[in-house]
Amino acid sequence: MEKEIRVVMGLETHVQLNTKTKLFCSCLNASYLDELPPNSAVCDVCLGMPGTKPVINKKVIDLALKIALALNCKINQQFFFSRKTYFYPDLAKNYQITQYEIPLGINGKVKIRTSKGEKDIRIKRIHIEEDPAKLIHRNEYTLIDYNRSGCPLVEIVTEPDFNNAEEIRAYLTKLMQIVQYVDAFDSNKATFKSDLNISIEGGERVEVKNITGIKEVEIAANYEILRQKNIILRNGKIERETRRWDENRNITVSMRKKETEEDYGYIFDPDLPYIELDASYMEKIKSSLPELPDEKIARFMREYGINIKIAESLVYEKEVADLFEKAVKEGIEVKHASTWIGVVLRKILNYHNISYVASSIRDEWVIDVIKLYQEGRFNDLNTEMIMRKIFDDKMPPQEVIRKYGFKEKIDREKIKEHALQVIKKYEQAVQDYKTGKEKALEFLVGMVLKETKGSADPKDAREVLIELLQK
Ligand SMILES: [Zn+2]
Repeated sequence: MEKEIRVVMGLETHVQLNTKTKLFCSCLNASYLDELPPNSAVCDVCLGMPGTKPVINKKVIDLALKIALALNCKINQQFFFSRKTYFYPDLAKNYQITQYEIPLGINGKVKIRTSKGEKDIRIKRIHIEEDPAKLIHRNEYTLIDYNRSGCPLVEIVTEPDFNNAEEIRAYLTKLMQIVQYVDAFDSNKATFKSDLNISIEGGERVEVKNITGIKEVEIAANYEILRQKNIILRNGKIERETRRWDENRNITVSMRKKETEEDYGYIFDPDLPYIELDASYMEKIKSSLPELPDEKIARFMREYGINIKIAESLVYEKEVADLFEKAVKEGIEVKHASTWIGVVLRKILNYHNISYVASSIRDEWVIDVIKLYQEGRFNDLNTEMIMRKIFDDKMPPQEVIRKYGFKEKIDREKIKEHALQVIKKYEQAVQDYKTGKEKALEFLVGMVLKETKGSADPKDAREVLIELLQK
């Protein structure tokens, strides 16, 4: 058997914060900055003009602190900002304002669940920093757009606690849930990027820079594990280097080999004050934290008696969890609410690759569909179809039902009438069934459903047929 090669990975994730303005000036921090004419959403401060001074946006501290607390970090209540010096055109000042010596939060943890069970991923640090400008590379030259320059980011750094790509996906999924629960990140407007550090037994540490999204990091990690294992198996040497993720080709590409950690020459930024978070402010932020995903999952399991898989699915988005509780409050039985919201609705959202909030579907529409089902008006199949159509057409269920002519469920007596017709019409299938061919029954059920234009409940149709065929 092939010897298992140990893999150790860590992540540094940059999350764009959900604020109205940039980190140190009053320029807009909006999702559409990249679509605006280049260098139009800028001022002297975020262009780094000599003589300008940054002023901290308090909202950034609120949001970063919420994230740090939600990640179970120890908070440094006194901190300052530093200048990370490097010469590159994406920084007009030739330094980036960041936190280095004293990050806002340290020593946190995030609980993840994978096919192998639960595990804690340790958070080494979380700090605030400004986004650099965007570089647009052309063949012979590079263009710079400073619209994004100075937008607020938090960088969340884990310990090297990941041993496979599944754990990375579970962690990033959880992290994105948490930052959205505390309203610090809006997945419909902002993005997040990760740098992946990976060391495999017998090799040096390799860093893969700038991977957007969750799935991409998972693919990049699997690619890099395979690439490095192949080098080790051929007795090659893995050198310390920085690579980048090429998302068009789904491969990593070497950027630079490096001997040691780059020396950025961090210095204290004298333009910004030493910041001290007092007890009353800390209390105010702490008490503003919502019920977090883990707590909500535990409560749903306890209060509604649902299993962890359904609870996780419901809690995945805060607004979907709220919808579930609203449905139950309005008289929908837990088993119906949890199945139609936790399974069917989640499947539809995943299919459209959209969040519930962004889908602009009203809570009442979803609840009304489940009510129709609970009242026995529509069978499983048609209920699911109606649910799909309210997403496709952005219409309330009554209009969808009218538009597509969904038939209400018919009772057993009505089914019996159709079943008798089917039995008469398909003698051969009836004979086959009577001589033990189970498949013939499936055919007959299908014919009854067809005759009733999908309005019969398949389970009812099956039972009615068996009953009639036994005579
Ligand atoms: Zn500005």
